[in-house]
Amino acid sequence: MKNAKNHEFTYPVFKKSMKKDYTILIPNMLPVHFKLIGKIMQNYGYNVELLETTGNQIADAGLKSVHNDTCYPALLVIGQFIDALESGRYDKNKTALMITQTGGGCRASNYIHLLRKALEKRGYGYIPVISLNFSGLDKKASFKINIPMAFQLFYSILFGDLIMLLYNQCKPYEIIKNDSEKAENEAFEICNNLFKKGKMISYKTVKNTYKKIIDIFNKVERRTEVKIKVGIVGEIYVKYSPLGNNDLEEFLRSVGAEVVVPGLLDFCMYCVTNSVIDRKLYGKRFIKANTYNFVYKWLLKKQSGVISAIKENSGFTPPVRFDVTMDGVKDYISHGVKMGEGWLLTAEMVELIHAGAGNIVCTQPFGCLPNHIIGKGMIRKIKERNPEANIVAIDYDPGATKINQENRIKLMMSVAKRNLKDYRDIEIDIGAETKSPEISKESKEKDLVNIISSSAASVINSIEASAASVKNSIETSAVSVKTSIEDIINKNKSQKSKTENIS
Ligand code: SF4
Repeated sequence: MKNAKNHEFTYPVFKKSMKKDYTILIPNMLPVHFKLIGKIMQNYGYNVELLETTGNQIADAGLKSVHNDTCYPALLVIGQFIDALESGRYDKNKTALMITQTGGGCRASNYIHLLRKALEKRGYGYIPVISLNFSGLDKKASFKINIPMAFQLFYSILFGDLIMLLYNQCKPYEIIKNDSEKAENEAFEICNNLFKKGKMISYKTVKNTYKKIIDIFNKVERRTEVKIKVGIVGEIYVKYSPLGNNDLEEFLRSVGAEVVVPGLLDFCMYCVTNSVIDRKLYGKRFIKANTYNFVYKWLLKKQSGVISAIKENSGFTPPVRFDVTMDGVKDYISHGVKMGEGWLLTAEMVELIHAGAGNIVCTQPFGCLPNHIIGKGMIRKIKERNPEANIVAIDYDPGATKINQENRIKLMMSVAKRNLKDYRDIEIDIGAETKSPEISKESKEKDLVNIISSSAASVINSIEASAASVKNSIETSAVSVKTSIEDIINKNKSQKSKTENIS
């Protein structure tokens, strides 16, 4: 709302008194982590609801509410809020919206203003918006995080990463259907029982909880078959959110892959370490850099704790230590590149290749310049140094068809399957000290058919999309030509009648 006196924009602020009877809606960016975060907030008296809606109407609501050049994650998040508000499920006078902000230099820091503007435009300017961030943005809101709550939120990231990692390593191999979901729910319950209002959780308890969670997943009976590991990297929202990436994880599993997704802690450490890098590169404040350096080392210790727990209690593959990830990217890109996901995106691709998951889907949202540079833009360099890398960049935007995205991923999977076969043949060769068995003609033909049909489907989709767009342009031009001709005729008529009048 514009204040006429001083030309400033004012907006409704979430007040302490609203806590009791307001419902706070949160877009579900990370399904595992946000469930835990939502529970912590509920324990602290906030009535929170995670938005898990899907469907085309969400992007449509976004397109109607913000400029169509806006980043796709913002368009979806805002569209999901508007869609929820207009669903009739919530009392609009008792609803607040919560949005996460990283505080980075790209448009992510402006999402909250875009959302407020969209609400104003749709006539909901009275709805308060809360910013969840650790960068001191938007201090007016009465959403305060005290120390026990901050620790609980931090541990929810560690537990969330652990549950996500173990689930991803169990699900493709489970013998009894949905055993992994059961294990996941049990793990949630253990964490939720730990989070109590005002409770300061000791690190000893946290470590015990790691062990309990790992034990639960250890009990999931699994097949010993070899699956193709496929890493997912990209902009934080489309990387994790099923709404943003058209349920990419589920799709990859349906085509026979084991999904490998780097944890949220990596992103947090990336944000923290950037302040240390700022000091080295630009001479930023010494005290700030030192504080962040201290926090970084503390986080690294906590990450090592999770890694040790996995190694000591199971045969699951632990995450890679963040300092190793950070070091691994040195020869590819400068640590000074830190807009969007910055150097971390490239680092995660390199890390995945070194960890044996060189088949990678790089998720790229529309409107995201930084991630196109450090994602798509780095693929060539990465492939030059790692010829075995099999990376596909997938664009996500309101006009992109799911079938087109899936066909491109299937193509990547065909290459991955062929590479896996070749790799296993070499292993057989070494083990038996005999001539490497040839890939059967039949299977080569099958692969070829797969590749050709995927490419054909992809070409057909592109042609259809182009044809639709050409048709639209022709229709628009025809309408505009018709209007111009009508204008000319009308002008001529009026000119003629003027001339007749004069004569
Ligand atoms: S990271 Fe990309 S998509 Fe996200 S806000 Fe920045 S520019 Fe937009």
